[in-house]
Amino acid sequence: MGVAGTLSCKQCSYSQNVFLGIGFRYIDLNSILEWYEQEEGRQHIRDFMSKEDTTFECYDGLYVCEQCKYLLNRVFFELKLGNYVYTNRYECPRCNTQMPTKPPLDEVKSGMLDCPACRETKLEMHFNNMDWD
Ligand SMILES: [Zn+2]
Ligand SMILES: [Zn+2]
Repeated sequence: MGVAGTLSCKQCSYSQNVFLGIGFRYIDLNSILEWYEQEEGRQHIRDFMSKEDTTFECYDGLYVCEQCKYLLNRVFFELKLGNYVYTNRYECPRCNTQMPTKPPLDEVKSGMLDCPACRETKLEMHFNNMDWD
């Protein structure tokens, strides 16, 4: 299941709570449709949920802007059927660049993220070691 944690910077006052991983309402398309917000994704879920060979990935991740290092904690959602792949996309709220397609889970956990505020140092990640739902 998911984990909750806090990212913080030793150089400046930047601090952000983050949620990573899979919640219990993330494991089937019916439940995802109950809370999923982006209309394009909702449409895909409705179209594909009845098809037997549909596979999907859904988890909370931390997107890192390649331009300005902004960190965006959002749901990653990808749906596949045969050769068809739909992946949700986000724009950076600070510089409007397209975020990378996939949030990098490993870098977050290994403490390799630059501070998006001062860009002077790596962020520290503290996990609360509890499930968040
Ligand atoms: Zn940006
Ligand atoms: Zn900083």
